[in-house]
Amino acid sequence: MARAAVSGRLTWRVGRLAETRAETATARTLVFDVPGWPGHLAGQHVDVRLTAEDGYSAQRSYSLAAPADGDRVELTVQLVPDGEVSSYLTEGLSLGDPVEIRGPIGGWFVWRPAETTPVVLVAGGSGIVPLMAMIRARRQAGSRTPFRLVHSVRTPADRYYAAELRRPDPGLDVTHIYTRAAPDGRPRPPGRLTVADLNSGGWPAEFMPDCFVCGPTGFVETAADILLSLGHDARRIKTERFGPSGG
Ligand SMILES: Cc1cc2nc3c(=O)[nH]c(=O)nc-3n(C[C@H](O)[C@H](O)[C@H](O)COP(=O)(O)OP(=O)(O)OC[C@H]3O[C@@H](n4cnc5c(N)ncnc54)[C@H](O)[C@@H]3O)c2cc1C
Repeated sequence: MARAAVSGRLTWRVGRLAETRAETATARTLVFDVPGWPGHLAGQHVDVRLTAEDGYSAQRSYSLAAPADGDRVELTVQLVPDGEVSSYLTEGLSLGDPVEIRGPIGGWFVWRPAETTPVVLVAGGSGIVPLMAMIRARRQAGSRTPFRLVHSVRTPADRYYAAELRRPDPGLDVTHIYTRAAPDGRPRPPGRLTVADLNSGGWPAEFMPDCFVCGPTGFVETAADILLSLGHDARRIKTERFGPSGG
């Protein structure tokens, strides 16, 4: 793995859809069998290329949703309205269908299970995907590194991996914040991420946590600004931007 990731010599491989499951009404996890897959680290992503019969092709990036597991590559794709690639991946692909996959890509936005520094994970919408790979890598390794996740979603129905994140996982705290509709009885009114959310849902800056922020561009910029205003060290704030605004 290390060799492929460091050398940058990435080749396109053909993956076939082996398994699929709905995460929300508009987000779907896709598990591909990719013979010869070199392995990856939590936080890395891949390029996916689709090619039509007339030769037209389109390529997009998708984060790896789970730690390395042989030839398996797991992605979670959010359907973007009128989105060329996300609509095909979430609605047009059948079991056994091929797509081209290239990776793993990225060596900065990664978490390794040997790390013991407390971690703050801040996600907007589908930005949870690479952070979930970190949560799963921690659990798989039996790590007790303290993790706190703050996930911003529109409504309770938009929570990804809801059942898995509800299961007890010592040392992992999960906070959902809702921008449009909150569950009944929740004192926080629906609204965008605030200083108070990261103050209560994250770790204090004095703990010097590693912070991973991922989501639509505007969300990432807001969250990173809040972390800085709370005194977090800029060198410990790692960001990954998924796209234009995300709404
Ligand atoms: C490093 C990286 C990792 C990513 N990981 C994931 C992931 O794990 N899961 C995932 O679902 N997406 C992920 N994305 C976003 C993904 O690459 C695509 O941008 C997204 O699927 C939309 O592609 P599309 O072809 O469907 O839309 P397009 O046809 O390219 O765009 C359709 C419309 O949607 C807008 N749009 C494009 N991208 C986005 C976006 N991300 N959010 C909101 N609006 C958008 C466009 O401006 C346009 O108006 C990642 C992006 C990057 C850069």
